[in-house]
Amino acid sequence: MSGVAFRFRSFAARPPRAPWIVAALAGEVAPMPFAGAATVDVCIIGGGFSGLWTALRLREQDAGLSIAVLEADRCGTGASGRNSGAAGHWWTRLPLLLKCLGREGAMAVIEASEAAVADIHDFAAQHGIECEARYERSVWAVTAPGRPGAWGPMFKAAESIGVTPPQRPVPAEEMRALYGTAPYFAGVMEARATRLNPAALARGLRRVALAQGIAVHESSPVTRVTSAPGHVLVQTALGQVRAGQVVLAANAWMAHLAPFRDEVMVLSSDMVATDPIPQVLAARGLLGRPGGTNSRMMLNYGGVTPAGQVYLGRGAGVLAFGARIGAAFEHAPAQLRQLAADFRHLYPELHDVKLPHGWGGPIDRSTTGMPQFGTLAADPRVHYALGYTGHGVGATALCGRVLASAVLGRQDRWHEVGALMARVRNGRYPPEPLRYLAASVVQGAVRRKETAERDGRKPWRLDAALAPLALATLPTKP
Ligand SMILES: Cc1cc2nc3c(=O)[nH]c(=O)nc-3n(C[C@H](O)[C@H](O)[C@H](O)COP(=O)(O)OP(=O)(O)OC[C@H]3O[C@@H](n4cnc5c(N)ncnc54)[C@H](O)[C@@H]3O)c2cc1C
Repeated sequence: MSGVAFRFRSFAARPPRAPWIVAALAGEVAPMPFAGAATVDVCIIGGGFSGLWTALRLREQDAGLSIAVLEADRCGTGASGRNSGAAGHWWTRLPLLLKCLGREGAMAVIEASEAAVADIHDFAAQHGIECEARYERSVWAVTAPGRPGAWGPMFKAAESIGVTPPQRPVPAEEMRALYGTAPYFAGVMEARATRLNPAALARGLRRVALAQGIAVHESSPVTRVTSAPGHVLVQTALGQVRAGQVVLAANAWMAHLAPFRDEVMVLSSDMVATDPIPQVLAARGLLGRPGGTNSRMMLNYGGVTPAGQVYLGRGAGVLAFGARIGAAFEHAPAQLRQLAADFRHLYPELHDVKLPHGWGGPIDRSTTGMPQFGTLAADPRVHYALGYTGHGVGATALCGRVLASAVLGRQDRWHEVGALMARVRNGRYPPEPLRYLAASVVQGAVRRKETAERDGRKPWRLDAALAPLALATLPTKP
């Protein structure tokens, strides 16, 4: 064992911008940072869904374990509280899973991802977490004329092994009934997709963790993690924790660390939202319109909250040079302007409704589109979860189970799922500065191409040729 010596970057606390974070934190007192010294069995770095689910699944299996969560800001103010609350499974990854794992392995991973989403409903109900977890229709659509649906490869792969994805094609007349004159040209629908209020879930998980004797320290950014004989030392500005084992769950904020930087790059995802407008939605016939995503590379995702707040997001926005997460990952006016244009396009009925909320957050994009839940070769006492690629609401619940088994050394179903996922590989990203330069060029091409398609114009030929390189990677190092 060679050991680890990680330095985390300095962490600036940020104002909560997502309206659901503002609501979830209302009335809570500012926390005291962790100070002094502590010794625990397990120290978890990061109090988002990954960290909290792992802490809770560990507690469930071992009531005697001492567990501390160190969170730089407030639990749920990272990606976990900022997202659109769509908790999905990995059916869309079937083609890659099939290639890497074969039928049995691919289906085991997909079933685990479905079980994770069901887990969220069960846990929230069992512990009285009021996070609006619900089943809704969700449509994966084409919103540019003449474009193919991105679901083709998934259905083809499913057919090849005789399984049926949860989505069904939506006939043209049903699309028209759902979307009227809005630009929805084709789609597939999932009848029972999960949606929830992510900030309410994160704060609820924190509440349950505290009630179960898990020490949760907020406003306590970790500065260093170092292997030592007999323990792993975790340092914060004002204190240090000696831990038997460590879980790295700081999402994009740890993507610069050596074990991860080849396979994860950091981009923003951005969102805009209206205020709650239930009467407007009712009057304009929009109450029954399902949420969902479209088939772009810079994909839009959106829906309506139970209070009638309409939201829309878009992936692959700001690029982080060297995985540095700056202020543009909180609020990027240029991204929000482009997104507002998408909103006006996709919701023509709401052309006059204000968009007072706009925010962003970091996405840890992996080369496979799937996360890895693993243990570092350099120190088997250090475990990690990273690479959700903007699809972590459901997957973090699976992370909790897989990493709890890793920490406890259990050879169970979750250990096997983690081992299968470790076999899903798809090359590596180029190093900086090449990565940033290449990604900037390709991203510009994708943006121009998809804007042209949205507006019914023919994209430039060079942009059309460059756009597919967005998914390109280098071969894995020998
Ligand atoms: C705008 C947006 C929309 C999204 N929409 C969806 C969606 O609809 N569906 C979906 O499935 N996924 C979505 N995602 C992705 C999803 O939110 C994430 O994959 C998921 O929340 C990751 O959880 P996490 O706990 O790993 O990370 P995070 O929630 O980011 O948690 C990491 C935590 O680590 C903390 N931290 C950072 N540095 C340190 C340090 N030095 N010391 C201690 N703590 C530290 C951070 O403050 C943060 O709280 C979206 C993401 C964004 C940004």
